[in-house]
Amino acid sequence: MKDFDIIIIGGGLSGSSTALNLSKKGYKVLIIEKEVFGNIKPCAGGMASSMKKFLPLNIDQVIESKIRNVEFRWESSDNVVADLSGESPFWIIRREKLDQLLLNEALKYGSEIIRPVQVEEITSQNKTWIIKCSNQETYKSKFLVIADGSQSHWVRYFDLGPRKPKFANTLALRLKGLGNIPKDAVRFEFGFVKYGFAWAFPLKDSLNIGLGTFINNKTLEDEDLNNKVIKSFGFEDLSFKAVHKRLRIWNGVHKLNGDRVLAVGDAASLCDPFLAEGIRPSLISSYFAAENIDQCLSTNKNDLNNYSISINNEWGKSMAWGKRIAQIFYRFPKTGYQLGVKRKTAPKRIAQILSGQMSYEDIAKRVIKRLLTKSEG
Ligand SMILES: Cc1cc2nc3c(=O)[nH]c(=O)nc-3n(C[C@H](O)[C@H](O)[C@H](O)COP(=O)(O)OP(=O)(O)OC[C@H]3O[C@@H](n4cnc5c(N)ncnc54)[C@H](O)[C@@H]3O)c2cc1C
Repeated sequence: MKDFDIIIIGGGLSGSSTALNLSKKGYKVLIIEKEVFGNIKPCAGGMASSMKKFLPLNIDQVIESKIRNVEFRWESSDNVVADLSGESPFWIIRREKLDQLLLNEALKYGSEIIRPVQVEEITSQNKTWIIKCSNQETYKSKFLVIADGSQSHWVRYFDLGPRKPKFANTLALRLKGLGNIPKDAVRFEFGFVKYGFAWAFPLKDSLNIGLGTFINNKTLEDEDLNNKVIKSFGFEDLSFKAVHKRLRIWNGVHKLNGDRVLAVGDAASLCDPFLAEGIRPSLISSYFAAENIDQCLSTNKNDLNNYSISINNEWGKSMAWGKRIAQIFYRFPKTGYQLGVKRKTAPKRIAQILSGQMSYEDIAKRVIKRLLTKSEG
């Protein structure tokens, strides 16, 4: 039976970055991944450059575009453009390359990975996890990290995160060429997708297109809708192959740790319920997971409660407002677009959210303050 300090279930973005953070600290880490490598990830790759501080390595080689403008449209017209000021605060990265880069670096620092392997049984004996796998091997570890993404089986087993998870339905495709999107701009297209929106994020020579619907479990299996969106981004050839994915989104403050176990990334239901941003919370949770496990291992303690507290402070407080905004905006999108997006300062604020300079909480507090000042005046 092979022995590790930490076993991580899932070798995607969250799993690999947690592994790198921990192996850099000198711990013995094993990642158990159920897939062979090479699938294109259904992820548009938009990320705030401010996340540098949570990244355990330089990722310049996977940045494909540096974004200067964010464009919003309602049914292909009524444009609003927000300039992103200064050094580009928003990047488009190629997700499969980022995951591979993090994983390779983790392996360089001594992490191990087994794939394609399924976890079959997890038990605990004398404060040690015993993990039986589909390769007929059994592995032991002191700590366990659940990083198996939106379809996570193991968060439920350990009772981590919301009992009733909420999902956004998404559709993703990658087309050759950039259509009518400038190479340094992203576009958010409202009005076509019920309870959500469509987006176009440019890579070097191709475009990541996505549709997301965030409330009421609306389906995106609608050829006319998909074609309309693709055409709005400047493409005529409609013979595309799309990937559908249910994305677990933030749904309230919940405990994300148990005794010697915690959840990170999508498995922890951290994705932004308004804009589907999941790279940022994956990196934040991986960072705090490693810090807290390190703290426990170096002081011989098992209490990971500070992990759940840190994630709530760093992310959950903002997402509570993101959820409220999503529920109002996507129910009344036309009014939301006119009063929210078309408001003079709104594009700048949304750009600040995307670039990590402001949180939904900051925005909500500003609005409340403005309303209070008006009602007093
Ligand atoms: C269409 C779409 C577009 C998006 N665009 C953006 C964007 O532009 N910007 C942004 O910030 N976020 C975006 N996101 C969200 C982002 O992609 C996710 O939040 C991110 O992938 C989460 O990473 P993760 O490692 O937690 O999960 P994943 O990347 O899903 O990784 C989970 C890993 O666990 C493995 N696994 C699953 N089950 C098991 C098991 N039982 N045993 C072992 N391994 C297992 C999987 O094979 C996978 O490798 C988008 C999401 C979608 C669906």
